[in-house]
Amino acid sequence: MQHHTQTIWNDSESEGNEPLLSEKRLETVEIEDTGLPDDLTRDSLELPELSEPELARHYTRLSQMNYGIDSGPYPLGSCTMKYNPKFTEDIAALPTASAHPDRDADSVQGILEVYHELQGYLAEIGGMDAVTLQPPAGAAGEYAGLLVTKAYHEENGEGEQRTDVIIPASAHGTNFASAALVGYNVIELPEDDDGRVDLDALDAAVDDSTAALMLTNPNTLGLFERDIEEIASLIHDAGGLLYYDGANLNALLGRGRPGDMGFDIMHYNVHKTFATPHGGGGPGAGPIGVSEELERFLPDPHVRESGDGDGYELATPEKTVGKVHGAKGNWLVLLKAHAYISRLGYEGLQDASAKAVLNANYLASQIDLEIPFEPFHHEFVASGGEQDAADFAKRMLDYGVHPPTTKWPGIVSEALMTEPTEAESKTTLDQLAEAFNAVTGEDDDALEQAPDQTSVKRIDQTIAARDPILSWHGLDD
Ligand SMILES: *Cc1c(COP(=O)(O)O)cnc(C)c1O
Repeated sequence: MQHHTQTIWNDSESEGNEPLLSEKRLETVEIEDTGLPDDLTRDSLELPELSEPELARHYTRLSQMNYGIDSGPYPLGSCTMKYNPKFTEDIAALPTASAHPDRDADSVQGILEVYHELQGYLAEIGGMDAVTLQPPAGAAGEYAGLLVTKAYHEENGEGEQRTDVIIPASAHGTNFASAALVGYNVIELPEDDDGRVDLDALDAAVDDSTAALMLTNPNTLGLFERDIEEIASLIHDAGGLLYYDGANLNALLGRGRPGDMGFDIMHYNVHKTFATPHGGGGPGAGPIGVSEELERFLPDPHVRESGDGDGYELATPEKTVGKVHGAKGNWLVLLKAHAYISRLGYEGLQDASAKAVLNANYLASQIDLEIPFEPFHHEFVASGGEQDAADFAKRMLDYGVHPPTTKWPGIVSEALMTEPTEAESKTTLDQLAEAFNAVTGEDDDALEQAPDQTSVKRIDQTIAARDPILSWHGLDD
């Protein structure tokens, strides 16, 4: 007897096209008189009539159409998509963690204590004298840090004169945007042949109109800026400030401190380095740290120990740049960072950074692509060579892994910026390498069709950006 296999039960209309709940069964619910004004109420409402299992399966299917850090490795260079331990979520879900941001300081002393401790932890990690937790993202931290920069120069009577912010060409796009938003001219700095800051070009760019240099170290190629002390002197001698983009601190944790390298201001992305999953624009927190002479400009309010030493209070820094967030910061994200740092401790953080660097170097050693710049630390930038990096990345999806960051920085042709993070095992790194190597050398056809194993197939990126059809349906519907 011949058996025909056929899927009998399939609640979705077609693969990868899960209908909305409202497209399933609708029931019209009559609404009784509520006593509310007529123009604020309706007479009836169509609601999906579904059982709990149907509902649970709907959401489970939706989650399976997605890819996240809980489904596999996510080696996005610069973005540090590390696995975030679940205990931090448990702590953020404690009933005592939810307090209205506007409650007065006396009634939320425990929360203020966590803020204060986290300020201290981050200051210690970054080698900074004071930290504020207020900015809600890395870019918001840059913005706040540049407001501090501006306030500092204005206080020195140089507000008009210091018009320029110098940024290496390989920097993250938010650096340029933040500087422009604060009203600075952006001077783009080329890299030298080794992929580091070109000292001669820097020397030529710096003068008494320099407000700041924004830098990340290790840089986006994963290379340590060995000349950082010379760079710091150049900037400081000209009266400028040195800003550290600490979005991605994985290589430095417990090993080197931006403050010790001469940086005056830095931001931390707690949602990259300190245990909050991110992507899609949030949620995050981008605290900033500053040196002692800049503390008086920090955003308002600032959490500090109260005068009598008996608790914590909110204070307005003497020359504050004002508020940069509605509350005191993105509290639950900050709480997770506090939990993560306290659980790991100093040695745990050191261990994380060692493994982040080891994993990047191991993965790089297992893949067949050229990696033009070495020695790298927590991330490396491979070149797709003749293969288009974006197509390469899309094809990696067919092998079941998330691809790296593509086409940035520009100094590497068809750049594949890869950061496996400390959280992945050797087995996972080997699988990742296998996916890289499977795509390497594949012909253009396979690459240009990719991905075809995912729930959403290849999309037209230009149309997706310029004329998005924000629909749960396939584009051909
Ligand atoms: C992610 C990132 C930023 C910006 O952080 P957001 O929280 O996304 O605003 C800035 N610089 C670098 C190097 C980054 O990787």
